[in-house]
Amino acid sequence: MFSKILIANRGEVAVRIIRACREMGIRTIAVFSKADRDSLHVRLANDAICIGEAPSSESYLNIPSIISAAEIADVEAIHPGYGFLAENPHFAEICESCEIKFIGPSPESIRLMGDKSLARDTMRKVGLPLVPGSKGVVKEQEEALRLAKKLTYPVIIKAKAGGGGKGMKVAHNDGTLVSAFMTARAEAESAFGNPEVYMEKYVKGPRHIEMQIVADSQGHVIHLGERDCSIQRRHQKLVEEAPALISKKLRQKMGEAAIKAAKAVNYQNVGTVEFLVDDDERFYFMEMNTRLQVEHPVTEMVTGVDIVKEQIRIAQGEKLSVTQDQVEQRCVAIECRINAEDPDNNFMPSPGKIETLHFPGGPNVRIDSHVYRGYQIPPFYDSMIAKVITWGPDRQQAITTMHRVLDEMEIGPIKTTISLHKRIMTNPTFLKGKNNTLFIEKLMETGKIQQEELAS
Ligand code: ADP
Repeated sequence: MFSKILIANRGEVAVRIIRACREMGIRTIAVFSKADRDSLHVRLANDAICIGEAPSSESYLNIPSIISAAEIADVEAIHPGYGFLAENPHFAEICESCEIKFIGPSPESIRLMGDKSLARDTMRKVGLPLVPGSKGVVKEQEEALRLAKKLTYPVIIKAKAGGGGKGMKVAHNDGTLVSAFMTARAEAESAFGNPEVYMEKYVKGPRHIEMQIVADSQGHVIHLGERDCSIQRRHQKLVEEAPALISKKLRQKMGEAAIKAAKAVNYQNVGTVEFLVDDDERFYFMEMNTRLQVEHPVTEMVTGVDIVKEQIRIAQGEKLSVTQDQVEQRCVAIECRINAEDPDNNFMPSPGKIETLHFPGGPNVRIDSHVYRGYQIPPFYDSMIAKVITWGPDRQQAITTMHRVLDEMEIGPIKTTISLHKRIMTNPTFLKGKNNTLFIEKLMETGKIQQEELAS
């Protein structure tokens, strides 16, 4: 059993992991950049080590620094959280070679799924449904034009090493394809150091539904049900909910497909298989994220399984704490990501000092956050400052509670996305459950968010 874990991350996820460790009686070592000296994860951990300058390339992505910290602190394991090094097979390998357990899947599984076009090929072989698209990467513009003709427009160009919606461009005709191909490659090069891209048919207005997988080292692989993450802006999730409004049959089919995907890469630990679902309930494999997801709390509230503790137990070689038959979707949960951004000014980042702060309590609320009154949000990292999760016996009640919480919540004077979430929670289309990935874009474009809010 682990007695000490290093958390190679910052922000709310570092706090989330420290909380799980505390409850499990495991000591924690936080690492921090010079900009995060006063961060909550530094205060809450048993010990903390500074690993470098503010830019993440010099701290949270600095493998030698993190490994040195782990060795000095003499930890048995490293939890990578999400983002930063969580899906870096090289980092997982180095941990292994230093005899530090990486709390996540093997470097091989990360590598197979991290290369998104290779993952498509692997999934094709085991019979998972895929969005029609290229076999492997598309190297030349001419090849892209030929393939787009075959697939018919619109098509989407995606980075092979992609993540976080970066390096992804939609094209509607030959003209826009040429520029989409070039900008996607340039974006991929600067974000991932790899310009390679592949192509898929662009599914119009699909739902993004993902299955949470849990797999131990003894060959048990189960799923904890699905999350609907269709409410996105620029391919980045804003609101997530569980369960999704899908038939029992589809849930079962997607669950089986996700387990098959995990088994195909000998997956261990927790992971998420993402699918696109069209209006006729046809689903297509999109990618697998080989880590903890930001939106894991909705699944925790619905199933009662603590996913972070499960990760640690699996890494310790323990058996899953539940069987597939014991997994039950007991309520409906919803999560809003609160970002320090101004939704009325093109989502401009709004770092700065938090002077007023009120996190509401009351029944059926969970707020995962690393901010406090007097906290200075550094400009160097992700803009997410809190996740609000509410739940209830049905979707309507979970939404009503969310609205109540958002109404009561105060974070100032910085700008946040709270106002946008309030508009979403009262939007008739959203209330009817008619979510798809175009929701935010359409409503922002037409200004209908405001109009419909007035009408409601
Ligand atoms: P990333 O790894 O960068 O998050 P994903 O492959 O998970 O990228 O896609 C992110 C989002 O982009 C999806 O949730 C969906 O909204 C949109 N998307 C991706 N592929 C397609 C597609 N073929 N058709 C329509 N939308 C897509």
